[in-house]
Amino acid sequence: MGGPRRIVLLGATGSIGASTLRVVATHPDRLRLAGIAAHSNWRRLSEIAREFSVSEVAIYDAAACREARASGAFPEGTRILEGAEGLSEISTLASADLVLVAVVGTAGLEPALAAIAAGKDLALASKEILVMAGKFVMEAARAKGTRILPVDSEHNAVFQCLEGHPGSGVRRIVLTASGGAFRDWPAERMEKATPEDALKHPNWNMGRKVTVDSATLANKGLELIEAQWLFNLRPEQLTAVIHPQSLVHCLVEFNDGAMLAQLAPSSMTFPIQHALLYPERAGGVEPPIDFTRLVRFDFRPVDLDRYPMMGLATDAMKAGGVAPAVFNAANEVAVEAFLAGRIPFLAIPRIVGNALGRTPNFEPRSLADVLEADAQARRGAAEDSLNLK
Ligand code: NDP
Ligand code: MG
Repeated sequence: MGGPRRIVLLGATGSIGASTLRVVATHPDRLRLAGIAAHSNWRRLSEIAREFSVSEVAIYDAAACREARASGAFPEGTRILEGAEGLSEISTLASADLVLVAVVGTAGLEPALAAIAAGKDLALASKEILVMAGKFVMEAARAKGTRILPVDSEHNAVFQCLEGHPGSGVRRIVLTASGGAFRDWPAERMEKATPEDALKHPNWNMGRKVTVDSATLANKGLELIEAQWLFNLRPEQLTAVIHPQSLVHCLVEFNDGAMLAQLAPSSMTFPIQHALLYPERAGGVEPPIDFTRLVRFDFRPVDLDRYPMMGLATDAMKAGGVAPAVFNAANEVAVEAFLAGRIPFLAIPRIVGNALGRTPNFEPRSLADVLEADAQARRGAAEDSLNLK
């Protein structure tokens, strides 16, 4: 296939978006931006549109979209699409080869399904999509023969380790977790942890939601569930380990006991580039790990008392049905309340645990079933967060 691969980037103004722009700028002969989308930050979108000559833009928020159209900030001839429909429309552009979904939360679900239906390749950073609707997204991808390229660093790492190995030979997959901002805090101190404390991630520079999820390890829980769908594994084949350096991103253990690991510096440009250029390997944006300097790899088990969200996520994964969607929805509400200073840090697992205990579990027959469970969990969690101040 000649010519650069043409990318639609959903979440262009975010943290993954910024790393993606660095990758695209490094490979102008191989990658082009065909479309960009965000929630409301149209000023940043207009800068990106100019710098990368993008003429297709989608803005979720209606008021921001109106402002953008009236602003004159975009290059002449730019089409500015609005709302959820706009996001889905930009994901099916005839001029696009691949859609990278990097919006926070579940707003990427419909566009991801639209991209699959339109025969686009899909690169997934937004883990919430497979956690909520893995069954339906994977079914749609299988039916269309769509390739899903994982961008989340651990899943991208697993994808790389599994290449050329039949799934029947895999015994177990271990995802590494940095342990987040509080990994070395005494347990008593966590009671008083503030949003500012939680947002100080030791290794990765990421959006606010995923940084808090790293501090609770909910992020790793979501990733175990995500891995289950991406790699067609049973819950008991998936586990996590704390690895404070964030240089080893996964371990894949085969039936004979041999393990493969994937290593790269803790920057998202590595997995993003791998997914966008796949299967080609080209020079990276940043230098690799320098083994001529002192490099250490430590591993330690996850302490479930310190990280109760890990236990809840594992239970939700084992339960299946709508439980993972309930876990995800309640967590989103709780993290938002924590970031807004409305609940203490340790209320997050209580709210999620209550949601899982309260919502009846069942096997969803349609996406509508999942969305209903999601909405119910959100309502309960919102009420709970008022009581758990
Ligand atoms: P950020 O908070 O930095 O950015 C979020 C992006 O999503 C922004 O561009 C935002 O637009 C956009 N967005 C939010 N809601 C909507 C919506 N309804 N419609 C359209 N766009 C929307 O998040 P991250 O980049 O950190 O994370 C994005 C996703 O990638 C998450 O699912 C996260 O779990 C996942 N991920 C992130 C990693 C990281 O290193 N950051 C690592 C692995 C996975 P606006 O600026 O206008 O609000
Ligand atoms: Mg990750």
